[in-house]
Amino acid sequence: PVNTRAIQDLDAAHYLHPFTDSKALASHGSRVIVKGEGIYIWDSEGKRLLDGMSGLWCMNVGYGRKSISDAVYAQMQQLPFYNSFFQTTNVPAVQLAAKLVEISPPQFNHVFFTGSGSEGNDTIVRMVRRYWDLQGYQGRHVIISRHNAYHGSTMAGASLGGMSGMHEQGGLPIPGIVHIGQPYYLEGGKGKTPEEFGLEAASWLEQKILEVGADKVAAFIGEPVQGAGGVIIPPSTYWPEIQRICDKYGILLVADEVICGFGRLGHWFGSEYFGIKPDLMTFAKGVSSGYVPLGGVLVGDRVADVLIEKGGDFNHGFTYSGHPVACAAALENIRIIQEEKLVDQVREDTGPYLKQKFEALADHPLVGAAETCGFVAGLVLVQKKAANIHDCVPFDSTLDVGMICRDHMFNGGMIMRAVGNRMIIAPPLVMTHAEIDELVTLIRVCLDATLADLTK
Ligand code: PLP
Repeated sequence: PVNTRAIQDLDAAHYLHPFTDSKALASHGSRVIVKGEGIYIWDSEGKRLLDGMSGLWCMNVGYGRKSISDAVYAQMQQLPFYNSFFQTTNVPAVQLAAKLVEISPPQFNHVFFTGSGSEGNDTIVRMVRRYWDLQGYQGRHVIISRHNAYHGSTMAGASLGGMSGMHEQGGLPIPGIVHIGQPYYLEGGKGKTPEEFGLEAASWLEQKILEVGADKVAAFIGEPVQGAGGVIIPPSTYWPEIQRICDKYGILLVADEVICGFGRLGHWFGSEYFGIKPDLMTFAKGVSSGYVPLGGVLVGDRVADVLIEKGGDFNHGFTYSGHPVACAAALENIRIIQEEKLVDQVREDTGPYLKQKFEALADHPLVGAAETCGFVAGLVLVQKKAANIHDCVPFDSTLDVGMICRDHMFNGGMIMRAVGNRMIIAPPLVMTHAEIDELVTLIRVCLDATLADLTK
């Protein structure tokens, strides 16, 4: 058994957590998570929690997959590590590259491996700049991204991201990265239909291209559905219009598929859900269901042809690029996704079922809107409801109602994440109908508890 108090004390004394106020954490102590099985995790006090967030958007096949640990163990025994810098390679990395090419859209025939999504997006920055340099367009280096985007925590990743809290720390963004507004209908769409607003939000890209100068813009990057920003599902008109604008100016289109990839929207990649054809795609998380860290970039022919034909050495890479153990875990993870038909299941069966059940939460007195897209979903907590979401009365942000609700969720046995006043989930793709019923019932009970707390 784990001595919770002792672990909490050591944690507070020595472990600086990501994205955490360490001083505040020390005063109440971390929750110590010790076990996972299926869609559930357990803390060191034996409390079981339904993991509505798939760890951190990554446990697509759920916890406790023995075949993945067997594959990892076997690969560690066979060859725990070797690099691919100097004309060497390894079997799982090659097999995984071929597998990723097989499951991705036809324009993708090459893969660059990294250890994480952030490193994947750093790779994007260097790759798109090199692509233009190699063709004689020196200085065509500007990348356009969006406010409230999350693209990672390295200097380039956090710069591509549009989180002001991250930019304030460390003087970001780095030069050559600029941002436009996000396609958040509930925030900016008052008086317009979602379709009208989608076109308007896409037009901000064209405005920015003209402002910067089309001959300076290398690429546009976006998450098909913004995840960490609060599960912002764009109107259906948005992405096709973004594609049209990128095509018009010859700008590379980059999809950050770190969350949306590997079945989360009911397709292998989120860009397929929205019908767009990116030139590059960043992946991580669901590629290995988080069992071992792995990320990378799928490189479309337009870019790969230039990099390979004209490129010479691409002076970029990581010790753990193509790590054999991570690639072995990913191969087994993808085999499971295929064998259990999880992508089809989310698209045709459990995704629509989650939509029906989750969106019914909109009748709750605290909920102004509830929306889903495949296996991501979000609801907006409001102080006073109205027929039109734009007329709802929001909570005072100083009340931090999302955090109050999150704690009620935890007490009720459920992990749901708070982003401001939005409560979001991204559950494991393996959920059954009965488990979806349990998830939505838990959310409703915890919303009731939150409401009782707020009105007492
Ligand atoms: N891109 C997106 C869309 C993400 O959600 C994340 C992480 O949450 C990243 C990039 C960064 O990935 P990592 O944390 O593996 O560096």
